[in-house]
Amino acid sequence: MTRPVIGVLALQGDVREHVAVLTALGTRPMLVRRPAELERIDALVIPGGESTTMHRLAVAFDLLEPLRQRISAGMPAFGTCAGMIVLADRIEGGAAGQETVGGLDVTVRRNAFGRQVDSCETDVDVAGLSEPFHAVLIRAPWVEDSGPGVEVLARVGHGPGAGRIVAVRQDSLLATSFHPEVTGDDRVHRMFVDEIVR
Ligand code: GLN
Repeated sequence: MTRPVIGVLALQGDVREHVAVLTALGTRPMLVRRPAELERIDALVIPGGESTTMHRLAVAFDLLEPLRQRISAGMPAFGTCAGMIVLADRIEGGAAGQETVGGLDVTVRRNAFGRQVDSCETDVDVAGLSEPFHAVLIRAPWVEDSGPGVEVLARVGHGPGAGRIVAVRQDSLLATSFHPEVTGDDRVHRMFVDEIVR
């Protein structure tokens, strides 16, 4: 597979930014809003935005169950920030009734970095990348705990949230608390795409 069709869940959030990176990497991004579109993609990106809104819209568009089915059947997926929450099996601090698609055996804490540091930027070391990655965290979650099958790819090095897990991988699922799609650095997207192409 040389030019995979990568869906971008386009219910809400920074869809355009992901489409731009995926296009630059030579893949074929496709916006996903309907269950039938899920059948035409090789992999899925779930953008940053607001996970409660995404949940509500996924229910309204009849996407929640089809998403669960495709992801549990092994479709590769990459979630950033709110997208990480959507992929998590468990949420701390979720809104009343908020459900996730799940697949990733982690507990995420929503808005984990707290009010005083709603947003922050910090360089993190990501397993598999030789240089640090500039992590942009916007009302970001962190991974509170993770199951045995989950590989921790990055933790905050210093400052607010030092030591907290902000990037994970489990089989073909990848998730970051930060937003690689807004930094102009395509290395995390490349990790995801390389895995699919392989
Ligand atoms: N706080 C948001 C949520 O809970 C995530 C923020 C983001 O994606 N930048 O969905």
